[in-house]
Amino acid sequence: INSKLPKVKTTIFTTVGKMAKKYDAINLSQGFPNFDPDPKLLDLVSKAMHEGHNQYAHMAGLPKLREVIAAKIAALHHRAYDPETEITVTVGATEAIFTAITAFVTKGDEVIVIKPAYDCYEPAIEVNGGIAIYVQLNAEFKVDWSVFREKLTPKTKMVIINTPHNPSGTILSKTDMLELQQSLADTNIIVVSDEVYEHIVFDGHTHESASRFDDLASRSFVCSSFGKTFHVTGWKVGYCAAPSELMHEFRKTHQFNVFSVDHPVQHALATYLAEPQHYLGLNEFYQEKRDYFLKALKGSRFTIVPSQGTYFQLLGYAHITDERDVDFAKRLIVEHQLACIPISVFNVADLDNKVLRFCFAKTRDTLEKATEILCNL
Ligand code: PMP
Ligand code: GLN
Repeated sequence: INSKLPKVKTTIFTTVGKMAKKYDAINLSQGFPNFDPDPKLLDLVSKAMHEGHNQYAHMAGLPKLREVIAAKIAALHHRAYDPETEITVTVGATEAIFTAITAFVTKGDEVIVIKPAYDCYEPAIEVNGGIAIYVQLNAEFKVDWSVFREKLTPKTKMVIINTPHNPSGTILSKTDMLELQQSLADTNIIVVSDEVYEHIVFDGHTHESASRFDDLASRSFVCSSFGKTFHVTGWKVGYCAAPSELMHEFRKTHQFNVFSVDHPVQHALATYLAEPQHYLGLNEFYQEKRDYFLKALKGSRFTIVPSQGTYFQLLGYAHITDERDVDFAKRLIVEHQLACIPISVFNVADLDNKVLRFCFAKTRDTLEKATEILCNL
């Protein structure tokens, strides 16, 4: 077979997840909460099903849900998106990202990706004939904007950013966003802004959405995920906001890929999202977990730079072993029954900075057991 994606293998999340099961390891690898969502949200889904919302939803998403999403963005970021033409509900952020790329990237187009990069970007670019051009974050996981600008060419079609950033837990500051905006001024470059962790930002920092900046917003697909915000990664519902000319093209692809998204779940989300306390408390909820995790690791030999956002924490292990991250991560599962993600898999195979990623979206009990193991290394 002449594969369109010869480099693609099974994702690290499947591979590590399987190993974690085999060795009965505590699983801080794949990013998902090991606790249930609010029972109120579950009841709303059941109610929507019993009220008969069981057939196809509107192609672009339930109108009521799109209105609530638009109101949320307007309240938080002071940008008015027209729910009719500028917001689409998607099958998770993954579909939003894939659709935005597919709607615009053609053979030979260059797409700038910041690395380490979440794993779904590159295959989506390559299956469409595009070329991923990587900009490596510096040692502090910050973007060097002069390096970024050097990568822009007449072939650059798109830039993908991710803030808060998976796997590093860094966030793009207002200055970063202004640098990005300035770098793209007077170009037709489209931005895909992956903001799935928009409501998980710590230490009083503000999430600087692309939708906050006039020129950036005019060229951006802002993508988010209810999976992260409401502890329901298995529901796979997200959304995307973009100016109508961009969204018009996006919907052509969305329409013939998935057509529409889970209908009863959209009803439930529309009601639940209308109450801001359901997402505004998330920063605090996860900061408490991050703080507990870090405090419990105080006596350990790991090097720690506190995560600024997401539900991931990087731990540097140079004082513990010389092994490469993949080898150490495997040994942690096999010998210590603890699973995490080696960050070299995020398109940085050449990187040997001895860092592992741990997901702290877990119950206190799980975090306690995990940190006990880590402190004994
Ligand atoms: N982007 C990033 C950075 C992620 O971590 C994830 C999480 N899995 C996604 C996109 C995909 O989100 P979803 O599960 O809603 O498709
Ligand atoms: N985003 C999740 C993570 O980074 C993984 C989701 C997936 O397995 N596709 O852990």
